[in-house]
Amino acid sequence: MKMALFYRSTATSAFFCLLVGLTHADPVTLLFAGDLMLADGPGQTIAQGGDPLAPLAAILKEADYRIGNLEVPIATGGQPHASKIVSFRADPRVVTVLQGRFDAVSLANNHSGDYGHEAFIETMQHLDHAGIAHFGGGPNLAAAHRPLWIERNGLKIAVLGYNEFKPRAFQAGPNWPGIAWSEDDLVIADIRAAKAAGADLVIPFMHWGWEKETQPSERQKVFARKMIDEGAALVVGSHPHVTQGAEIYKGKPIVYSLGNLVFDGFDYPEAERGWLLRLTLDKSGVLSWETLAAQIDDSGTPWPVAGAFTPCGRAGDTTPAECSNP
Ligand SMILES: [Zn+2]
Repeated sequence: MKMALFYRSTATSAFFCLLVGLTHADPVTLLFAGDLMLADGPGQTIAQGGDPLAPLAAILKEADYRIGNLEVPIATGGQPHASKIVSFRADPRVVTVLQGRFDAVSLANNHSGDYGHEAFIETMQHLDHAGIAHFGGGPNLAAAHRPLWIERNGLKIAVLGYNEFKPRAFQAGPNWPGIAWSEDDLVIADIRAAKAAGADLVIPFMHWGWEKETQPSERQKVFARKMIDEGAALVVGSHPHVTQGAEIYKGKPIVYSLGNLVFDGFDYPEAERGWLLRLTLDKSGVLSWETLAAQIDDSGTPWPVAGAFTPCGRAGDTTPAECSNP
């Protein structure tokens, strides 16, 4: 009799554990980085056998999935775009420093098209070859608007990438390559479509805002809130070369700009302090989030800043807190 009871209670608890296991999967940690510009100083570092991502390797390694903004075509071909004052192009060897550090990159920015369609297509080929996913750009408009799908621990995340900083000439067309432009109606349609396709969480990664401005513009604030109203789990951005603070809207974090991560050539100190954004996610949304400061040296290499205080938060918070960096 005792034996039978014992057997029954273990069977029940095993069943209970199975249920818990099914309904409470482990959260997913997702990390976002700002602008990765791998030409110029960082390109030289890599050409000389250096590794501008080495100081952050441990932080990058901890996350389940890592996403950055690739602010440069990676190619040997193409021609500089006529309308651009600054055109970047990185040697294909730079892909090796991204490997194992970034799972995916956004192409939706104002430099992906610096060397034209040929170099843009070549960039995607180098990323494909290296096993690094890409989004926010593609061989045509439909592909450029297709989400990056991340499936981990039973959680289905759709990440969308958009640029709204000129030139618009890099925008993909019905049958030509390019980036996804941040056209409000299209962005909202994409968020809804990702939800309809089964996304538990939709995350827009925006390339927006005015350069050097340490506060978001009215446009960024209004559109970030609109995207959350339409179902985004959070909003994250980059481009201004500086960080732009964070806020919480309807319980969902907005981190307006992560600033630079690997980038050189700036003459103002704010451009040398970027953030990583580390998110802990489950089906309910963002369980917790924290920014991690990176101090960028003159060669464009970022370094962790232990003890720096940067925005962070947890589910249920109504305003961001400041957390000390590890
Ligand atoms: Zn940019």
